[in-house]
Amino acid sequence: MAYASNQRSLETVKREDLVRMCSECGSKDIEYANEEFYCKKCGLVLD
Ligand SMILES: [Zn+2]
Repeated sequence: MAYASNQRSLETVKREDLVRMCSECGSKDIEYANEEFYCKKCGLVLD
């Protein structure tokens, strides 16, 4: 996939990438353990 028309700054993209959100319950209460991110609320493992 190409995003040739996407002119957003790398800084903005990088900042958004740091905010991890659970795709299951929408919680941002994400914990990092055993080299994985997981939701503290419902336990879903993010990749
Ligand atoms: Zn969750």
